[in-house]
Amino acid sequence: MRIDPHTHSAASDGTDSPAGLVHAAAAAGLDVVGLTDHDTVRGWAEAEAAARQAGVALLRGAELSCQWRGVTVHLLSYLHDPADLTLSGEMEAARRSRLDRARTMVDRISRDYPITWASVQAQVGAGATVGRPHIADALVAAGVMPDRSTAFDTVLSVRGPYYIPYHAPDAVEAVAMVRAAGGVPVMAHPRASVRGRVVPDAVVAQMAEAGLAGLEIDHRDHTAGAVEELAALAARLGLARTGSSDYHGAGKPNRLGEHTTAPAVLERIESEGFLPVVRP
Ligand code: AMP
Ligand code: ZN
Ligand code: FE
Ligand code: FE
Repeated sequence: MRIDPHTHSAASDGTDSPAGLVHAAAAAGLDVVGLTDHDTVRGWAEAEAAARQAGVALLRGAELSCQWRGVTVHLLSYLHDPADLTLSGEMEAARRSRLDRARTMVDRISRDYPITWASVQAQVGAGATVGRPHIADALVAAGVMPDRSTAFDTVLSVRGPYYIPYHAPDAVEAVAMVRAAGGVPVMAHPRASVRGRVVPDAVVAQMAEAGLAGLEIDHRDHTAGAVEELAALAARLGLARTGSSDYHGAGKPNRLGEHTTAPAVLERIESEGFLPVVRP
């Protein structure tokens, strides 16, 4: 069983359509793929139909934008009830805030680079959650950056002069919100320090207390040392261990299935979730 529970489609900042992503997962030999677009479940319906066709199981999820004292935290929510108004309202608020933030970043960047809000919008799929990757795509289209990764390392860096944060719920409160919506919360890439600051263990412990189910330990943004420390932390807090590719399509080097999750962990997620895994 090959299970890759964290990927993105064009419903947020991936480059494959939801159906294209599912077919790519089948071609990559995955048995189960998790679709976890940023702050949206918009891709679920299309992915579900494709999963039945492609013979791949689909784990429906989302990656919620959260923060702890200004530090970005990504929380995976699996199998939650999409009709839950608190959770869907929080996702809607994060999407709106991301949009404002993108406009302001583009204002700043456009003083120094030949992009406009219109040229960024041209990179965003209909109704998709906006993020820095779309700004990167506009910089690439303008011919001033070779690819997304270079744009992230320079113009779009958290440590750069153009970076702006956006409103997002507190990570501990978000864990409780996911549980209240029947979802299973897993903290995404808890030690991805290449992306910016990370939260201390004490905050992970508070999240565990609030109902966190697991830690995404096996992820390309973690060093071997971080993996070891996180494995110990998960054991201490009684949290499950997940691994994933965090695939974004063509815009990122991450390959489907480069890290995977054990079947027993998926079983636990499914047993605690409001929705079932879609099986072909
Ligand atoms: P944002 O959420 O707007 O702050 O942008 C960060 C997101 O960009 C994360 O989800 C990253 O996974 C994603 N991303 C996509 N392509 C890249 C890339 N080539 N380098 C770094 N981050 C990327
Ligand atoms: Zn992303
Ligand atoms: Fe993330
Ligand atoms: Fe992600």
